[in-house]
Amino acid sequence: MGDEQQVIVEFRELYGTEPEGVWAAPGRVNLIGEYTDFNDGFVMPLALPHTARVAVARRADGLLRLHSGDNEEGVTEIHVDDLKPLSSNGGWWTYLAGVVWALREAGHEGVAGGADVHLRSTVPTGAGLSSSAALEVSLGLALADLHQLPLSRPELALLCQRAENAFVGVPCGIMDQTASACCEPGHALHLDTRDLARRQVPFDLAAQGLALVVVDTRVQHALGDGAYAERRAGCEEGARLLGVTHLRDVPYGQLDAALGELDDERVRRYVRHVLTDNHRVAQVIAHLDAGDTRAIGRVLNEGHASLRDDLRISCPELDLAVEAANAAGAYGARMTGGGFGGSAIVLVEESAVVELVRAIEEAFEAAGHRSPRVFPVTPAAGARRLS
Ligand code: ADP
Ligand code: MG
Repeated sequence: MGDEQQVIVEFRELYGTEPEGVWAAPGRVNLIGEYTDFNDGFVMPLALPHTARVAVARRADGLLRLHSGDNEEGVTEIHVDDLKPLSSNGGWWTYLAGVVWALREAGHEGVAGGADVHLRSTVPTGAGLSSSAALEVSLGLALADLHQLPLSRPELALLCQRAENAFVGVPCGIMDQTASACCEPGHALHLDTRDLARRQVPFDLAAQGLALVVVDTRVQHALGDGAYAERRAGCEEGARLLGVTHLRDVPYGQLDAALGELDDERVRRYVRHVLTDNHRVAQVIAHLDAGDTRAIGRVLNEGHASLRDDLRISCPELDLAVEAANAAGAYGARMTGGGFGGSAIVLVEESAVVELVRAIEEAFEAAGHRSPRVFPVTPAAGARRLS
C-alpha cells in the first residue's frame, strides 16, 4: 500500500468518513548557515524525501479532531474556540492545533468550522530534521487548499512559524517552515531571513555522482535546552556592542575590526561564528554556481569547526560522525540543526556511500555510542497535495 493510500485507509477506519484529500510536507536538512536566522542572516536548506502526510476533512461544528498514527495517544478533540496559546502543555497535537489557531488569528475564519485530521510521518522526530515544521506545513497547506485561502507559500510558512512560536511556545526561526513549504526537487533554497528573498540553487547531486548522507546520532543531550536561548542572547549582545540591530549588518570584510571591538571572549566567538557562517553560505553558492559541488565539502568542514569551537553546540557523537566521515574519504561534513545531538550531513562520492555508512557505524560502535541511523538523501520537493 502506498504512503498516501495508507493514511486514507486509516482515516476511514478512525473517523468513519472519507478524507477530502491528502497533503504532504517534508522535513529538511540545512546545508550551510547555522544559527544565522535569528541574526537576520542566510540559510540554505533542502527538503528531505521524508514527509509528514495528513488526510483531512473539514467539519462544520467547530470541533478539531487530531490523530497521529505514529504514537499511541489516540484522538485529541478540542473546540476551535478553545484553542489558547501555550495552554496546551506541549502535547504533540499542539503543532497541528497551532496552525488552525494561527490561520484564524490571521483572519481566515473559515477554519473555525474545525476538521478531522489523521497524520503519518516518516520524518524522524527530534533528530534536527524538522519533523515539527513538516507537521505544521502539511496541515497548513491542506487547510489553505480546502478553504481556498489566498496564501502564498512564504505566507503559509510565516503562519506556521507563528503557530510554533506563539502557540506551541518554541522560539524557532523561519527556516524550517520555509524549507518545508518552498523547496524544490534537485535544489537547495538560498533564503535571506531578513526580507525572505529566495533563490532555488541547483543542487543535483546524482547528476554529478555525489551523495549527501544524513547521520542521525539518535542522541539529544539535555544541555541543548537552554543553549539556544543563551547563544541567541549572546548574539544580540554582540550586535548591540557593535551598534547594529542584527549581526547580519556587519560585513564579512569587517570581521577582524569587529572582533577587535569586543572584550568578552564568549561574545567574540559567537560573533565570529555568525559572520563566518553567513560568509560560508556565499561561498557555497559561489561553488555551486561554478558547477564545483565537490568544493563545498571544505566549507562544510569549516562550518563544523566553527559550530564546535566558536558556538560550542556540537557533542562527541556529532564530532565523531564528522571525523569518521572525513577519514572514510568524504569531501566534507558538518553537524546540522540545533546541535547537542541530532544529525550531521556528509558530502561523499555516490560510489563510496556503502563504505562510508560502514565506517561511521563502526566508529560509533568502537566509541560505545548508540548506533546511528545513516541514510543518503536527495533534495526533494516541498509541500504538495497528494490526492
Ligand atoms: P524536530 O522538528 O527537529 O524533529 P521538534 O522538537 O521541533 O524536533 O519537534 C518534534 C515534535 O514534533 C515531537 O516531539 C512531537 O511532539 C511532534 N511530532 C513530530 N512528528 C510527529 C508524528 N509523526 N506524530 C506525532 N507528533 C509528531
Ligand atoms: Mg522542530
